[in-house]
Amino acid sequence: MNNPSGFDYIVVGSGAGGGTLAARLAEAGRRVLLLEAGGDPHLLSGTNDDQPGVNRLPADYDVPAFHGFASENDAMRWDFFVRHYADQAMQVRDPKYVREYRGELVDGILYPRAGTLGGCTAHNAMILVYPHNADWDGIAELTGDRSWTAEAMREYFIRLENCEYRKVERILARFGPNPSRHGWNGWLHSEISVPPAALGDFDLVQTLLHSAGEAFAELGNPLGSLIGLAEAKGDPNDWRLVAENAVGVRYTPLTTRQHHRMGARERALETAQNYPERLHIELDALVTRVILDGEHRASGVEYLKGARLYRAHGQPATGPGVAMQAMATGEVILCGGAFNTPQLLMLSGIGPRDVLEPLGIPVRIELPGVGKNLQDRYEVGVVNRMNFDRWEILNGATFGRGDPQYREWAAGREGVYASNGAVLAAILKSRPERPLPDLFCFALLGLFGGYFPGYSSLEVTKPNYLTWAILKAHTRNRAGEVRLRSADPQDTPLIDFRYFEEGSDSAGEDLDSVVAGIRFARRLTKELRERGLIAAEEQPGEALQSDAELKDFVRTHAWGHHASCTCPIGPREAGGVLGSDFRVHGAQRLRVVDASVFPRIPGFFIASAVYMIAEKAADVILAG
Ligand SMILES: Cc1cc2nc3c(=O)[nH]c(=O)nc-3n(C[C@H](O)[C@H](O)[C@H](O)COP(=O)(O)OP(=O)(O)OC[C@H]3O[C@@H](n4cnc5c(N)ncnc54)[C@H](O)[C@@H]3O)c2cc1C
Repeated sequence: MNNPSGFDYIVVGSGAGGGTLAARLAEAGRRVLLLEAGGDPHLLSGTNDDQPGVNRLPADYDVPAFHGFASENDAMRWDFFVRHYADQAMQVRDPKYVREYRGELVDGILYPRAGTLGGCTAHNAMILVYPHNADWDGIAELTGDRSWTAEAMREYFIRLENCEYRKVERILARFGPNPSRHGWNGWLHSEISVPPAALGDFDLVQTLLHSAGEAFAELGNPLGSLIGLAEAKGDPNDWRLVAENAVGVRYTPLTTRQHHRMGARERALETAQNYPERLHIELDALVTRVILDGEHRASGVEYLKGARLYRAHGQPATGPGVAMQAMATGEVILCGGAFNTPQLLMLSGIGPRDVLEPLGIPVRIELPGVGKNLQDRYEVGVVNRMNFDRWEILNGATFGRGDPQYREWAAGREGVYASNGAVLAAILKSRPERPLPDLFCFALLGLFGGYFPGYSSLEVTKPNYLTWAILKAHTRNRAGEVRLRSADPQDTPLIDFRYFEEGSDSAGEDLDSVVAGIRFARRLTKELRERGLIAAEEQPGEALQSDAELKDFVRTHAWGHHASCTCPIGPREAGGVLGSDFRVHGAQRLRVVDASVFPRIPGFFIASAVYMIAEKAADVILAG
C-alpha cells in the first residue's frame, strides 16, 4: 500500500464539519485528502435481515423514519459509554446506565456516534434548526473578529442551504426579495415532512395547537396571534423569527433531498465525483497522530488503514491495521468531532500536561483547554402511552423494507417514513427573564426516553406512544471533560459531563428550565388526557408533581446528543484552544473545524451551526 501524497490539505473526519469543508476546498481548486475512519454506509456489507439492529444498509441510512436504527446499525455505529456524573451512586441511578456491554465492562451511559462517511449526519435525526444570533455575536465579541457577527454568518447559511419547503418565497427570491433569508441554491436540501394529518381518529396537531396559547402563557410566553403553523410563522429558520428570538409553535425542517437523508456524505461524494483529481476520500483510515516538525508546524498525519479499527465500532476489528502516513504541503484540519478531535490533539502531544505526561506522551504544545469545556443539551422525554394499540398511520408498519409504509416511501417518497417522527415543535423561554428562548420541545410519535443499547427497537414494539422531547438550550454547565484513557489511538477517551450539581451551574438554572419544559409539555397534552386519549404518562409519571420530584427525575434521566465545545475558540490564557481563524494556538498549519470549536453550545440543534462554521472555515483557509 502506498502512502497518499500530493495534497494541499488533509482533512480528518467527514462529518458535518469535515465533509463540508473538504468539498468546498476542492471546489476552490485545492487538492484535498479526506481521511475517514469509517466506511461508506451505502457500500458497507451486511446481511439482508430485516430486523432493526441488524445491518439493513442502505435503508437505515436513507429512510428518514429509520434514523434511530441508523444510530444502532452495527456497520457504522460508534458507541461511547460516558459518565453523566463522576459520583458512581448518581451515575447508576439512571435506568439507562449500562455496566457491561457485549462482554466488556463499560460502566456508563450510551452516547451514540457514527464512525462512517458523513459522520453523525449519517445517523442524526436530520433536524435543521438555525442557531441564535447571539451565539455568533458572542464569538465576535469574545475574539474581536467581526467576521463572526450574526449578520455575516447568515451568509454562510444562505450559501449552503437549498430550501425546498418555502415554495412561494423560493419563487419570489428569483426576482430579488428574500426577507426570510433562506438559501435556495446551496448543496444542503431542506424539506418538511410532518406525518400525515390523519393520526388516528383525531387530529393530533390541531388538538395540541388548541392548548398552545395557554401553555405558552403559563410560562410567561404570551403568543398573541402567533399560534399556528402558517408558512412563515412555523419556520424556525426564517430570518425574521430568528432576528426577533421569537417564541412559538414550529415545524421541524429536515436535511433531506426528495425525502431521502442527505448530509456530509452526499456533499463529499458528489464533489469527489465532480472533481476526482482534487478530492480524494480515503475510507477506513483512522488517524492516530498529527506530525509536527520542530517549529510545531503540522506537515501530515499518521493513520491506521483498515476497517472498524476504533474500539467504539459496533463490530470492532481485532487487528491493528496497517500503519500509513500522509503529508500535505498546506495544512492539516481536524474534524473528528467533539470527542475525537481533542483525543487526536492529545495523542499528538497537544493538550493539558497533567493528562499527557502520566500516559508517557511527550508534551509538544501545552494547551490546558483541550478536552475541557465539554457542553451538551440536557434532554428529557415526557412519555405518554396512548389509549389505543397503534397510531393509525403505523398500521401494518414493521419498520422494515417489506411493509406498506416502506413501499409508499420507496415509490413516491411519501407517507410516514418520509418524516423523522416529529409532529410539532415549540420554542419558548423557560422563564420570562431568560434573555433568549432556551427550550425546544417537540412531539414524536413513539417512545423516546434517551439512549441505551436497543433503544431504537422501541419504535417497533411500542407503536402507541407520544413523547414530548424537551431540549434545554444554552446550558450553563461547562464543566464536562474529555480525557485520554490511554495512549492507544484505537481506545475511546474518558468522557465525563459532570451533570447538574457536579457542574458549573451553581444557580441550578439548567435544572429549573428542564422542569419548566416538563410542565409545558404536560400542559400541551392536557386536552388529550381530558379526552381520554392518553392512557398514562409513563415518564416522568403522574405521581411526580412537585419541583423536587421532577428535579430528581431530570437528574436521573436526562441525556444529551449535541456534545461540543471541547476545543473552543478563545484566548489561550482563558482556556481557549483556537484562534478565531480556527488555528490551534501555538501550532502552525493546524486547524480544527467541527462541533468542538464553539466556546458556548449554540442554538437548539447543532448541525446547522457546524455546517455554517465549515463554510466559513473554507473562506478563512482559502484567504490564507
Ligand atoms: C443520534 C443523534 C441524532 C442527532 N440528531 C441531530 C439532529 O437532528 N439535528 C442536529 O442538528 N444535530 C443532531 N445530532 C448532532 C449532529 O449530527 C452532530 O453534532 C454533528 O454531526 C457533529 O459534526 P462534527 O463534524 O463535529 O462531527 P461528526 O459529524 O461526528 O463527524 C466526525 C467524523 O470524524 C470521523 N473521525 C473521528 N475520529 C477520526 C480519526 N481519528 N480518524 C479519521 N476519522 C475520524 C468520524 O468517523 C466521523 O465521520 C445528532 C447526534 C446524534 C448522536
